[in-house]
Amino acid sequence: MTAPVTSFSELGLLPELLQAVIDKGYTEPSPIQAQAIPVILQGLDVMGGAQTGTGKTAGFTLPLLQRLARHANTSASPARHPVRALILTPTRELAAQVAESVRDYGKHLGLRPGVVFGGVDIVPQIQMLRAGVEVLVATPGRLLDHVQQKTVMLGQVEILVLDEADRMLDMGFMPDIRRILALLPAKRQSLLFSATFSEEIKRLADNMLKQPVLIEVARPNAMTELVSHEVHPVRREKKRDLLAHLVRSQNLQQVLVFGGTRIGVNRLAYQLQKDGIHASAIHGDKSQVERIQALADFKAGKASVLVATDVAARGLDIQELPVVINFELPGAPEDYVHRIGRTGRAGSTGRAISLVCADEHEKLAAIEKFIKQRIPQTIVPGFEPDASGVSALMHTERERPERRPDRDSSLTRGGRSHSPKAPAKPVDSIFSAPYVPSNAASPVVEPAPAGPQKPRRQVAALLGGLRKSG
Ligand code: AMP
Repeated sequence: MTAPVTSFSELGLLPELLQAVIDKGYTEPSPIQAQAIPVILQGLDVMGGAQTGTGKTAGFTLPLLQRLARHANTSASPARHPVRALILTPTRELAAQVAESVRDYGKHLGLRPGVVFGGVDIVPQIQMLRAGVEVLVATPGRLLDHVQQKTVMLGQVEILVLDEADRMLDMGFMPDIRRILALLPAKRQSLLFSATFSEEIKRLADNMLKQPVLIEVARPNAMTELVSHEVHPVRREKKRDLLAHLVRSQNLQQVLVFGGTRIGVNRLAYQLQKDGIHASAIHGDKSQVERIQALADFKAGKASVLVATDVAARGLDIQELPVVINFELPGAPEDYVHRIGRTGRAGSTGRAISLVCADEHEKLAAIEKFIKQRIPQTIVPGFEPDASGVSALMHTERERPERRPDRDSSLTRGGRSHSPKAPAKPVDSIFSAPYVPSNAASPVVEPAPAGPQKPRRQVAALLGGLRKSG
């Protein structure tokens, strides 16, 4: 193994790019950057196993810009600014964020960046494309609209990046991607980034990459000691009240709440608003303007709760959140890890709270198996699950790892032995013991909130911008 690269200057980047990195306040390259930058600079294809939060955007953008730097020019002629690099992303938010990174990292080079995605007026995009851009970030559908309208030509693309390829396939973009690939020159450099390598991704990679260099970095460790996991068993119909109670009584700020469906997410945000909690929703049915606004409000601390679907939340530059709440458990255990990967980063502590009702016990068992950890369960007084919920949750215990949580055992499910086959009993006193949060620094939950509290505005020590100031 070679010694790890500890400074950007060792990576062979141009002074203009090093300056941009300094401007961002980054002091050392992340693992994906240290590995990918030299390989991409050599012109090789890359299959990158990395997800949002690893610094992958700079990992491909910096060398991409360097490889195109020779094309920089100040000519007003659009013909002198053809699309040289195409970066495809699954969501509008990710497209906007990647484009912002391209702009930031490339600000000392003379290349023109541009971004196109659906849900917004196409006319300004047409004008921008007509004027010419060298680095185009796009979602597949809107890019194909432009292709159809002949407002973009892809015949001079030298570098293709497929970002979050697994998510693109999940979202049904494969046919669009095939159509786009067919429009690109065969001789090009291709980079594919994906958090997971399914068979389908491998097939796509075989199709699109030539002798790629495989670069994998550990996903941001969602299971870090810095993240405390908590489960609150509760009846489904009481989940919303419990959520509101937790937000108020613990004065939670900047909570990312995961709901299941778009409708559910909308309804939940609306109901929280009615409860006097500043909440906004983000999901695929919202217009781009609404989504940008919701995210901006959240980042600015105007909304303390952002309710999101998995797809909408993915790719958002909101890492290092103090609290992530699963209002609904995700269908796939991997998604729990993705969700939780938003918290407990960079030395900050984080909490992952799940509100779990009786019919979710199988999902919970699958998650615990996947993360090889048993999650302590605490019942919040006033929000007890019904008897069948208790029984169902206890039932999963047989398959759980033995490790006892390092907590007050009298309050957690692990603190007593329960027969899985025991008939459902009414909730007993063990479950009405006062709630004790797992994070010692957190305030103790008051049994019953008096009413909506005005959220105390805190400076967000999070949200992607944390490390920018250097
Ligand atoms: P990404 O995984 O590309 O979405 O990046 C996640 C976050 O990490 C973004 O807010 C970046 O600005 C930030 N970031 C990227 N590279 C570095 C670095 N080398 N040092 C510190 N922060 C970084």
